[in-house]
Amino acid sequence: MASLGQPAFRAKQLEDWVFRRPATSFSQMTNLPAALRQKLQDSFNLESLTPIKEAASRDGDARKVLFRLHDGKSIESVLLSYDDRLSVCVSTQVGCAIGCPFCATGQQAFERNLSVAEIADQVLYFARRLSEGQNLTNVVFMGMGEPLANYDATLQAVGVLNSERGFGLGARHMTISTSGLAPQIVRLGKEPLQVGLAVSLHAAEDSLRDELAPINKRYPLKELISACKQYMAAGGRRITFEYTLFDGVNDSLAQARQLAHLLKGLGALVNVIPANPGGSPKFKAPSPEKVAAFMAELERLAVRATLRARRGADIVAGCGQLRSREIASARRS
Ligand code: SAH
Ligand code: SF4
Repeated sequence: MASLGQPAFRAKQLEDWVFRRPATSFSQMTNLPAALRQKLQDSFNLESLTPIKEAASRDGDARKVLFRLHDGKSIESVLLSYDDRLSVCVSTQVGCAIGCPFCATGQQAFERNLSVAEIADQVLYFARRLSEGQNLTNVVFMGMGEPLANYDATLQAVGVLNSERGFGLGARHMTISTSGLAPQIVRLGKEPLQVGLAVSLHAAEDSLRDELAPINKRYPLKELISACKQYMAAGGRRITFEYTLFDGVNDSLAQARQLAHLLKGLGALVNVIPANPGGSPKFKAPSPEKVAAFMAELERLAVRATLRARRGADIVAGCGQLRSREIASARRS
C-alpha cells in the first residue's frame, strides 16, 4: 500500500478481505476506493488457483476440486464435512517423488513444489465460498505430495493460516502428514508452532515398508521411530500413526502384534484406514471381517487405535486420483 501511495490502514483493510471476508475479486472490496480496486486488479491476482473440475461425493460429505496453476500444472484439494468439523485437505507438491505403489499421486512424476500462496490459497478458496454460518475448523496436509519435502513453503503456509493477521486458525487444528522424512520430523519438533503430525507407517518391519513407502530405504524404521521420539521429547506433542490396511499385505494378526511392539511406550494413536483404490490394483482393502480382527488384536494389545471410515471414495477422493484421471483422459484425447 505504501508503494501505491496509500495510507497504512488500507493494508489492514486489504488483509481483512484476503483472509477473513468472502471476496473472490478485488471489485468486491467495497471499502477501498474504486481507483485502488482497479489498480489492484490490474497488478495482482487475488487467487493463484483456477478451478477446472469439481466432484461431490454421493453423500455430499466430500467436495473435491482440481485446480490449474499459473504454469498449467494441476493439483487437487478436498473439503470434508463431518458432524462437528469442516476440514480442508491440501496438496503441497505437484506429483510426488516418494512413489508409494498404492498411492495415485505416487504414480505421477514429481514436477515441482507448491509456493506458500498456492498452499494457503487452497484453504482460502473454500473459506471464501462457504455458506453463511459455516467455518473451516481443520486443515490437513494430506493431499498430493510430501509436505516435509517442501518444508519451508509448508511451514510458511501454516504460519499464514495460523497468524492472527492472516487466517487465524489454531495450529493445533492443522496436521501435517509425512511418509517419514526423519531429519525433517526432528526439525519440525523444534518449531514453535504447535502443528499436529501424522506419520504414514503402513508397516512395522523394514522389508515390507521398503516396498510400501520407499523412503524407508533412506530412513528405516529404527531411524524413523528415533526421530519420532525426539519430536515428542522436544515439544511434548503426540504423533498419530497412519496405518492403511491392504488385503493380504499388512493385515495379518502377526503384523498387528508387530505394530504394537514397534509403538510400545510411545503413547501413540494409530489411525487404521482400509485402502482406497489408488495406485496399483494389487493394493485393495481387506474384508470388513479382516479389518475387525486386526482392530480387535490391537485392542487386546492395548494400542490406542481408531478405524477411519472410507469417505468420499465414490468421487475418487483418494490422494491424487482426480488428477490421475485428468492425465489419463488428456493422454487419450
Ligand atoms: N505424502 C504424505 C502426505 C500425503 S498422502 C504422506 O504420505 O503421509 C496422505 C495419506 O494418504 C497418507 O497417509 C497416505 O498413505 C494415504 N494414502 C495414499 N493413497 C492411499 C490409498 N490408496 N488408500 C488409503 N490411503 C492412501
Ligand atoms: Fe507421496 Fe504420500 Fe502418495 Fe507416498 S502416499 S506417494 S509420500 S503422496
